[in-house]
Amino acid sequence: MRGGWKQGDGARPFLWFARADTSLADQDIGAPRQRLVRELHPILQYMQQSDLEKPNEPVVILFTRLSTELIRSGLAQRPGGRASQQGPPGQGHPYSALTAASCASAAAVTAAGGLSAVEATRLKALRAAVHEARARVNPRFVLVVPVQAPWQWTFALLRSYQNLQSALHRLAPAAALVVVERPPPGGVPQPRLVLLDDLTPPADTIGQLKHKLLLWLKPLLQWMAEEDMEGEAERLPVLHVCVDAARLAQRFVARDPVAEAEAEADEAYGAYGGGSPAGGAGAGALEDLSGSELQRMLLARDRLYEAVDVLQPRLLVLVPWQAPSRWVVVLCRDYARLLVGLTQALPDRPVYVWKPRRLPRPRDEDVVDFCYSSACPFRGAVQAVAYCPRCSVAKYCSQSCQAGHWQAGHCRLCPRLAGAKLHSAQAAGETLAPANAGRQRTSQYGKPRR
Ligand SMILES: [Zn+2]
Ligand SMILES: [Zn+2]
Repeated sequence: MRGGWKQGDGARPFLWFARADTSLADQDIGAPRQRLVRELHPILQYMQQSDLEKPNEPVVILFTRLSTELIRSGLAQRPGGRASQQGPPGQGHPYSALTAASCASAAAVTAAGGLSAVEATRLKALRAAVHEARARVNPRFVLVVPVQAPWQWTFALLRSYQNLQSALHRLAPAAALVVVERPPPGGVPQPRLVLLDDLTPPADTIGQLKHKLLLWLKPLLQWMAEEDMEGEAERLPVLHVCVDAARLAQRFVARDPVAEAEAEADEAYGAYGGGSPAGGAGAGALEDLSGSELQRMLLARDRLYEAVDVLQPRLLVLVPWQAPSRWVVVLCRDYARLLVGLTQALPDRPVYVWKPRRLPRPRDEDVVDFCYSSACPFRGAVQAVAYCPRCSVAKYCSQSCQAGHWQAGHCRLCPRLAGAKLHSAQAAGETLAPANAGRQRTSQYGKPRR
């Protein structure tokens, strides 16, 4: 598939034109392309105004030499699949118009007997192009346009959103809607788990937790893969920390969005002066922590910040390795949309929303943070600090704090902290394939396609 981006600015859908047949030349698609830009305007407008999935939602338009009938029958789900094919254009079929008979005949057309060799090749190319679009830009639908009859559109839905379906039907009543069969289990991209820790768990602990973790995270991974995958190479970092994950998140991420909404409501009713510690910026005092607790909390926090900063995930999982069942989810981007999906996938799990902030970088001047030294006279207070020159992780308010902390044990941890720095490429290698995530899929989506 060859294609080029035509990206709009701001929150609007953009068109991505591509060719399913490599034999199609520019002059073959030039005229229909211009006309499509005009005719798709109401649909793009609708998406922008009321149903945009993400700030730049892709609308993929695929040109093919296949006939309209073959496009529709070739892309439609087989019998036993989840959803159905719309009626032919102009006949005003209701959504539920699919009968077993039409399904069977669609399957029959696509069976090897009904197709010429050229058609079979084109159909294969079209399916591959749709799959590639799914993997690369993850659209909700692909518009398939036959070059011989470019006004006979087929919307190939990759995910069945009811709102979108009825809107497309209303805005382009002559076009057909087809729900595309999902690729076979092996071909479904899965989010990859990236296992990280804050250097405190014993070496074998994370290995022993892997199996449980896959079990716990299964609904989350499944939801991501089915409905909400950002791209083929999406990563889900899992960070094992030595402190209470919820406490870490409350202090250094942001409050539970539900709690935050309640707090806002309180404020609206004039309940000021609650004295609750600031959840976001890490400005909440840490005086209540003992020396070693402070160390562990700062260690876990720095690792968390680094993971978000370097990997830029949409969400990550925090697992307290001493009480792993109390894991929590931290949502780093796309809040509103992801929150809805997350609360459905994980109804009982606390979700914390990352509060965007400017993170101090090791080379920044005038860093303000806690001093790492347990013997610091200002322990637990936010103040001007400087980075340890070796690891660029620990921070100290004075040379005497740095020297004291080095003696007190940082000399052992410092090289490990420096060696464990995350790089996006390196972290991508430490992955764990969700071993059984594909198994259920087989029964759910029917038989894998040949
Ligand atoms: Zn200090
Ligand atoms: Zn150091």
